[in-house]
Amino acid sequence: MSLAPVKLRVPLGVQVGVVAALFVAALVVLWTTGALVVARERRRSEAKGLLDRAGDELAARGSGIIAREREFPDYPEEPSRAELDRELSAEATAALARHAGIEGGYLVLRYKSFLGTAALKGKPNDKAVEKAKKQSEPLTQGQGESRLPPLEADLIDIQVDAAIRKKQVLFSVEELEGERPVTVAIRTAPLVVDGRVVGASWVITRLVDPLFVDRSLQGYRWATGLALGGIVLSFALTAGLARTVRRQAVERDRLQTDLRRSERLAALGKLLAGVAHEVRNPLAGIRSTAQLWQRGFEVDADSLGGLVDEVDRLEEIVSSLLQFSRADAQDLAPGDLNAVLAEAARLAAGPAELKGVRVEVELDPDLPPVAMAPPALLQVFRNLTTNAIHAMSTGGTLRLTTRRHPSRQAALAIVADTGPGLTPEVIGHLFEPFFTTKSEGTGLGLAIAREIALAHSGDLGAANRTEGPGAVFTLTLPATQPGSNGEPR
Ligand code: ADP
Repeated sequence: MSLAPVKLRVPLGVQVGVVAALFVAALVVLWTTGALVVARERRRSEAKGLLDRAGDELAARGSGIIAREREFPDYPEEPSRAELDRELSAEATAALARHAGIEGGYLVLRYKSFLGTAALKGKPNDKAVEKAKKQSEPLTQGQGESRLPPLEADLIDIQVDAAIRKKQVLFSVEELEGERPVTVAIRTAPLVVDGRVVGASWVITRLVDPLFVDRSLQGYRWATGLALGGIVLSFALTAGLARTVRRQAVERDRLQTDLRRSERLAALGKLLAGVAHEVRNPLAGIRSTAQLWQRGFEVDADSLGGLVDEVDRLEEIVSSLLQFSRADAQDLAPGDLNAVLAEAARLAAGPAELKGVRVEVELDPDLPPVAMAPPALLQVFRNLTTNAIHAMSTGGTLRLTTRRHPSRQAALAIVADTGPGLTPEVIGHLFEPFFTTKSEGTGLGLAIAREIALAHSGDLGAANRTEGPGAVFTLTLPATQPGSNGEPR
């Protein structure tokens, strides 16, 4: 047994929402990361500026003291080293007191020792400077040698060594592993007196910015990766979305075609049923007359006349049906609706006069051209005017009007009468083939008229007059674009 693949159908709205949310999220992450990186770089350059100032001050205060030691090469080693350490520590503390968060000290080459380390003890301030000066005591003391900050000791050692070897001021930012990883900015500078390197100064600061503390670089990489992933994903989803929309459009077109086909088939079925019904009546009349003649009844003028009438009726039904079938097989070309309506008015004038109906025509000179097959449209107007004159059995007014649609994208032709108007029952079935309230009617006139209107990409509507009794039929046809080949807009 094979399992049918399960297709997950996500509604279009949800897809659009997900894509939009992903895109926005990715942009936000990228933007924030960018801002963080800028902040990081700013902090880095700030740290460099701070360390430069503190380092210069430290070097200025310390190099004199260290150089003095050089002048007495036989200076006894042990006690003087401790003294020198204290003295340098006091200088270093004084030098760094105004530089919050910075530690520093010296390496004295003569002793190959780190001396005069001023380590952070709380927040250094002016009071600390005073105290250090008074007591002349280093903030951190070793046994004749200063203790370096334990975490950074190796780094300081390496950087000081490098500065002495290269005889250059060095600056770098390093991440140090430990219980709590820290990011440290360090500056080391050789102390040169009379062209000879006598030692080095070092200053460090811990970058406590969360960006640095929280393994910032890695965080930054993650964030960027995430944002890029989000953007790639949203592009992929957008492509999927476009495919879905295209597929749905194709599907919709197919459904519409199917719908139109089935509507047409249903209409055709109804039409055929009507045809069968309509044709059967005259045929039955003809048959019964023929049977009477068969039985020896005399062929008189009356029964002969009746027979001819029935044949005429069959002929009328057949020619109407032909109009029906030709309704949408017409070639359309831009034309003047006014001219067709004027012709319809001219043709209606005779029958109208016989019934005492006045014909009024009002044509809009600014009517846009419409794509049309003039004979077919004339057929529409003839059906409408014939019905209108029929409805006004005791006289009235037949009014034919053309008007530009307010949107300027269509032309309207209106046929109004002052007859009894349309009952709700009639309005409901008006355009159905074979619907008629007349004993001699075929019920095909309005159905054909509407088919022709649809074949012109237009429409035909019916209503009652508002100013008094009477019916109004409105034909709407789309205007052609100037310079187009006649296809409606
Ligand atoms: P037929 O004219 O053969 O009856 P139509 O399709 O032209 O077929 O008309 C259908 C029906 O619509 C008519 O029988 C009539 O009842 C109604 N009708 C059409 N035009 C008018 C009108 N101007 N006023 C009142 N009723 C109308």
